[in-house]
Order: sequence, then C-alpha cells, then structure tokens
Amino acid sequence: MTDRPAVTVRVPAKVNVQLAVGGARPDGFHDLANVFLAVGLYDEVTATPADALRVTATGPDTDRVPLDRTNLAARAAELLAARHGIAPDVHLHIAKDIPVAGGMAGGSADAAGALVACDALWGTGATREELLAICAELGSDVPFSLVGGAALGRGRGELLTPLEVGGTFHWVFAVADGGLSTPAVYAEFDRLTENAGVPAPEASPALLDALRTGDATALAPALANDLQPAALSLRPSLAATLTAGTTAGALAALVSGSGPTTAFLTKDADTAASVADALLTSGPCRAARVAAGPVPGATVV
Ligand code: ATP
Repeated sequence: MTDRPAVTVRVPAKVNVQLAVGGARPDGFHDLANVFLAVGLYDEVTATPADALRVTATGPDTDRVPLDRTNLAARAAELLAARHGIAPDVHLHIAKDIPVAGGMAGGSADAAGALVACDALWGTGATREELLAICAELGSDVPFSLVGGAALGRGRGELLTPLEVGGTFHWVFAVADGGLSTPAVYAEFDRLTENAGVPAPEASPALLDALRTGDATALAPALANDLQPAALSLRPSLAATLTAGTTAGALAALVSGSGPTTAFLTKDADTAASVADALLTSGPCRAARVAAGPVPGATVV
C-alpha cells in the first residue's frame, strides 16, 4: 500500500441511435454498424491503493453486480497490471447510476473507468492506443465508453470512427424491472432471422446527417435498432412502454441496445421532463431518467 491519493473517473452511459446487426459470424459475434451516443447518466469508479484487488459497489440494483474478479472493472485492472508486470492491488469502488443489465453499457463504463483510474493511480502511463486495445479485449462496447461523444462502431462495435454532432439531443430513459441478457437477445435475434437473409449492416446516411446538423426532428425517423424485435419478443411488455412515451410527446422511441431500457428522443429538455413524468405516472416503467448527449467519455474528476 502507498499513500497515493484515490483517483475517481466518471463514465457515461450510451444509447445506440442505430444498431444495425449482420448475421452471426463463425466466432459467434455479429458484425455491426453501431452508432453510439454518450449520454449524461454516469457511473463513477474510484481506485484507492489496497493490499489486494477488491471491488465494492453502491447504487440501484447493485445486488446484481458481481463483486468478484468477473466484474468488468476488476478484469480491466488485472489486464492493465499484467501488461505492466505489476500486481493489481487496488480497491475499486463503483458508484452506480447506469441501469444494471439495461442495454446502456454500464459494465463497459465501469471497465473503461477502472482502466483510466488505475492507469492514473499506478502511474503506468499507458498510451491511448494501449488503453483502447485493452478496452477492445474486455468487450465490444468498452472502447466507446472510453472515448464518449458519438462514434460509429464497426466489427463487433469496437472499431470506432468518431462522429461530428452539431447539437445536443434530449432523451428520456425508462428503466424496466430486471435486466435482459445481451447474449440471450442476440440468440433471439438469430432465431427470429434464421431464414430471412440478414443484409450487411450499414450506417444510415440520413441518421449521420441528422447527427451532424443536430436536428432532433430529422434524427427521430432515422433511429433504428435491429435488436428491438428480439428484445420485444423476450419482453413483450416493452411495446406498451414505447407507445406510452410517444403518446406523451416523444419524437420517437426505441429499445436501448439489447434492452430492456427504452429510450425516447424529445425535441427539448422541457419535453423530456414532461415525458418522464408521464411515463412514471402511467406506470409502464420502474424509473424514468432524463439525460442529454453527446457528453465526453471516461474523465478523471
Ligand atoms: P451492454 O449495453 O454493453 O450490452 P448492459 O448495459 O446491458 O450491457 P451491464 O450493466 O453491463 O449490461 O451488465 C451485464 C451483466 O454484466 C450484469 O448482469 C452483470 O452480471 C455483469 N457485470 C460485470 N461487471 C459489471 C459491472 N461493473 N456493472 C454491471 N454489471 C456487470
């Protein structure tokens, strides 16, 4: 143990404004055209010197977050330490605000946060390229949690091209009871599309234009999630939540990533607040959170 001070890193959630999914690859993953937008719902990861690797977590639903070495934050610390030939002795505390297993990349955010926090705590001085390589090893969504903003992810989502965004988009996120397993949703996608000949995934030019101009009205009809039918098949009640949000004034509604969180794009912050109120009052969700994006990726606070 040393007397080095703790390092806290704040990491945003993501929403997939487009998730185009190709057929299953021989390695079981799917090729994606994944347009990520980082939104202002955050987990904070604090790294403190310790005698051994330890993870703690506070916040909603943290009973569903593993605190052993399967936690993605712990795996991130281990990978960074192994590359630098040091012991991964650190206490990682996760202050969770991103819904657990909600399709908003909460675990990925914690992994990116732990990586940046441990790099600063241990003085490992990893390059951005090295951090991104470790992120890609940890999971498809982890590189985006590091960089934030908006990006197109190719491959399994980890090959990122940053995207220009010309404004702020306002969202409501309806948190459902329980989670949905991402592998289970992909398995359902495979089952539903078995005989349908899945086309190669491509980013929509209309969607990229709408991001570039910051035009929520143009973005709304371009929002698309190929996993939505699979998420609705596994959780049919989400259809009523989507309808409740658009009835309440959202420009568009979609399942966030693999769900079961649903995302509602609104024309401004005031409308987001009233859609959130309406969703809570009419009762199809457990919590409704308002957040805007794009916001920066993992940042030391
Ligand atoms: P994605 O959007 O990237 O598919 P998600 O937001 O749907 O992910 P996560 O919150 O990342 O889902 O959690 C998925 C599962 O990962 C959890 O059920 C849990 O068992 C495991 N897990 C491992 N580490 C973490 C972590 N730090 N936070 C939350 N879950 C974690």
